[in-house]
Amino acid sequence: PTMAHSKALLVLENFIGGKFVPCSSYIDSYNPSTGDVYCRVPDSGKEEVEAAVKAAKDAFPIWSSRSPLERSQILNKLADLIEHDLEAFAQAESKDQGKTITFARTVDIPRTVHNFRFFASSILHHVTECTEMPTVGCVHYTSRAPVGVAGLISPWNLPLYLLTWKIAPAIVCGNTVVAKPSEMTSVTAWMMCKLLEKAGVPPGVVNVVFGTGAKAGEALVCHPDVPLISFTGSTLTAQRITEKSAPHCKRLSLELGGKNPAIIFDDADLSQCIPATVRSSFANQGEICLCTSRIFVQKGVYSEFLKRFVAEAKKWKTGNPSDPTVDVGALISKEHLEKVKNYVKKAQAEGARVLCGEGVDPLALPPGNQKGYFMLPTVIAEVKDDSCCMQEEIFGPVTCVVAFDTEEEVIKRANGVKYGLAATVWSGNVGRVHRVAHRLQSGLVWTNCWLVRDLNLPFGGMKASGIGREGAKDSYEFFTEVKTITIKH
Ligand code: NAD
Repeated sequence: PTMAHSKALLVLENFIGGKFVPCSSYIDSYNPSTGDVYCRVPDSGKEEVEAAVKAAKDAFPIWSSRSPLERSQILNKLADLIEHDLEAFAQAESKDQGKTITFARTVDIPRTVHNFRFFASSILHHVTECTEMPTVGCVHYTSRAPVGVAGLISPWNLPLYLLTWKIAPAIVCGNTVVAKPSEMTSVTAWMMCKLLEKAGVPPGVVNVVFGTGAKAGEALVCHPDVPLISFTGSTLTAQRITEKSAPHCKRLSLELGGKNPAIIFDDADLSQCIPATVRSSFANQGEICLCTSRIFVQKGVYSEFLKRFVAEAKKWKTGNPSDPTVDVGALISKEHLEKVKNYVKKAQAEGARVLCGEGVDPLALPPGNQKGYFMLPTVIAEVKDDSCCMQEEIFGPVTCVVAFDTEEEVIKRANGVKYGLAATVWSGNVGRVHRVAHRLQSGLVWTNCWLVRDLNLPFGGMKASGIGREGAKDSYEFFTEVKTITIKH
């Protein structure tokens, strides 16, 4: 019995109205580092979504009438419970997604905890507006109220981190939610559901339906009783969600893909810039929407940069994600690995040079990981700006390095894609840093650093990278409905 038990597959259940409920059909979810089936995920559809929306609707009147302080205390409790189980969550996230255990331990789960603590705090500090009109004897003020049932849809790259970045502000504002994590990475959301009751989250406030985008996701998007959808994922899916929700005029927040430039001027401090740019290219296997994949280097330092950058990239160890010395884990799926590798092939066919990684260096994997979805950090040079590798989001450990001459030229080229999520600028010239930052079409610009976030400030993209922003004030505004009230005295 012990053997059978240890070999039994993890089977997830939907969490609806405070209870785990089985589903009539399931889909397999893989461990990307071994290629084995890791767990079975409910293949929810309209029926399950209907039950979850009903539970959320029923829970709304009581939850929305609780004080912000009460809700804040519950979020803090939930944060403590997740933090208490941090190691178990990190292990599960790494196994489910392919990311390194180190990344899950230091980024995914700590940030999940922080998401709850941050919104638990920020909700206590908002003030609404008030104006006076003495000549007509009026004061005006605004009041904000939760909207209702929020639909939350998240991707596979930072599973619990991104899902809780939505759940926390949604519920702290008094909404109830139906969340649908990616079908490829559902385990940690399911684990979180087990802690909700203990944290004091009333039944029906957080409901989670598992399943595919086409079935469960679309049922949520099309449900008439879900007035707002917060989505993080690809631009293509966002187009579909926009279309499907249009008949209901839903409020949408869309956090989408990127094709982020790193701009490195001659006067950059290369000792800082090179390790940071290797990180901004390959962290989490390059599967972060904020990863840089077009590196523009000014001619004066181009050859030195390229030499040192490739040497640094080669130091990153690819292998078993549960080994704490490994820097690059497995990609999410066999299909995704194939797609990423194909970009490298296309670049080669166009005459670009692959300097390290895919097809150039040998990839030695431990015996248990031979069937995993691995590839080495890959650096490509001499790629044309109009190549698909410079225009499309690859979302893997592949980065292109190209040379530029002038500030004017690089701004134009950096802006020459359909996306506008994030950019990095490396220069010791403070005037230049401001000038370039202002002219980049990008929702976020980091100068002389990468991925330093203050959750208070807006996060989100321009152009095809999204609509709306998330952050203390932005999420508060998205997850509440504002009313202007005029009092004549
Ligand atoms: P995806 O668009 O394929 O899926 C995202 C989620 O949407 C999943 O839960 C999926 O099941 C669901 N979905 C798919 N089709 C749907 C439909 N028709 N209706 C409703 N839901 C549907 O994206 P992905 O491959 O999981 O994630 C990678 C993408 O996410 C990349 O483009 C990346 O840049 C982007 N991303 C953006 C941010 C950001 O904050 N801007 C953060 C992380 C990832």
